[in-house]
Formats: sequence, structure tokens, C-alpha cells
Amino acid sequence: MNQLEQLAAWIEDSGNIVFFGGAGTSTESGIPDFRSAAGLYQTQHNSPYPPEVMLSRSFFMSTPDIFFDFYRSKMIHPEAKPNGAHLLLAELEAQGKLQAVITQNIDGLHQLAGSRRVLELHGSVHRNHCMSCRRYYGLEQVLEQADAVPRCPECGGIIKPDVVLYEEALDHDVLVEAVAAIAAADLLIIGGTSLTVQPAASLITYFQGRHTVLLNGDPTPYDHQADLIITDRIGDVLGRIQELLGR
Ligand code: ZN
Repeated sequence: MNQLEQLAAWIEDSGNIVFFGGAGTSTESGIPDFRSAAGLYQTQHNSPYPPEVMLSRSFFMSTPDIFFDFYRSKMIHPEAKPNGAHLLLAELEAQGKLQAVITQNIDGLHQLAGSRRVLELHGSVHRNHCMSCRRYYGLEQVLEQADAVPRCPECGGIIKPDVVLYEEALDHDVLVEAVAAIAAADLLIIGGTSLTVQPAASLITYFQGRHTVLLNGDPTPYDHQADLIITDRIGDVLGRIQELLGR
């Protein structure tokens, strides 16, 4: 049995799969990892700001114009489409086999593929709120006002994306739900994340099920705990898994 057949067999055998994913899940959809995107921005704009600064709460509050210039040009990808990874995960949830997708991504591609229970640790570009009156806005409101800081049409307050910035805490309820999902899972598939960013690394220590699978191009600090490591592109891998399962 090769690696893909092994993964397909474990998926067939499981009724409680949890997927934990990071930026690598969306790179095949054309969304660069933000660190490389920020690096590109720094080069192109001759910007003195590293990503940890540009995507921080204090930077947003002090220079929202520069924040939104970067955010609109590099963090939002309305043209991106789900890839084979997103599609398989949505299908497995529809079959009742997958119980949750936990993601560090903010792109909404899992929902676009049809996933329903998506725990977004770092928030989403698709949800935005007026900082003054708390009115809700979709992504359009941020995109429509393309050359300024987006303002609430009702009260004039700044519209802030529900994206967790540096210096901001993660949503407590989302974290608690993620821990519970991982603790209850019997197959944990980790994809497209280096597992070097907290709390990602500590979250997966709650897993007590049967098999841990790592889908990542580069080694992670948790490789020794994985039962299976596949280093090919994750969209390709899960796309081929869908073919194997369909036989
Ligand atoms: Zn408002």
C-alpha cells in the first residue's frame, strides 16, 4: 500500500476526521503565504515595515491608510477558487465523516467549497465591523472604497476586518471549539502549516485519536509524532485521494 492508499484507507475507516490547515492549503488557489506576500510588498514599495508591524493592531490604529493599502493589495484575493484540498474536505463533511476544519487562513475558501463547520483561528476577510457602531459589513464594503480607509456609511467610523492582527488575542470561543474538535477526533489531518506559530502547535497536542497525518512540503517540529507524512502539494494529494475514494 502506498502513502495515498494508506491515507484513503484511514479516511474510509474514520467517522471523526478533523483537518487543521494553514497557508499551504491555499497556495494552489493562488494565494501566497502572507509572509512571502509581505516580503514582496516590502521589495516593491521599498517599505520599511516588516509583516509583523504592518499587520499589527497598533499599526492599524496609527496608520490605517498604509494598513489598507497593504491589506487590499496583498491580503484579499476575491478571484481565488477552492482547490482539490478544499473540495475533498467539503465532500467528507457532507458525507458525515469530517467533523471540523480548523484553519489559520482568512480567505474563506473552505466555505466557498461548501464546508460548513469552519473554525477560523485568525478570522476572515469576509467579515468586517464598524469600530464605532459595530455594524456588520461584507468584503464588498472594504473593496468598493478602493483608495481610502473604508468608512461606515452610517456613522463614518473606520471599518475593521475581523482578522486577528498581531497584538490581538484569538477568539476564545473559536479556540475552545477547536480544542474540543481535536480532542474528539480519531483522524487528524494537518496540512500546509509549518506548526511553528502558536497556538497551532499547542492545539494539536490535544489529539488523542488513532492517526496523525502531515501534509506539508517542509519538515515540521511534529514530524516525529506523525503516522504518515506526505510532502507533495496538498491540493494534488487530496484531489487524488478523492479519486481513490470514488472507486
Ligand atoms: Zn458605524
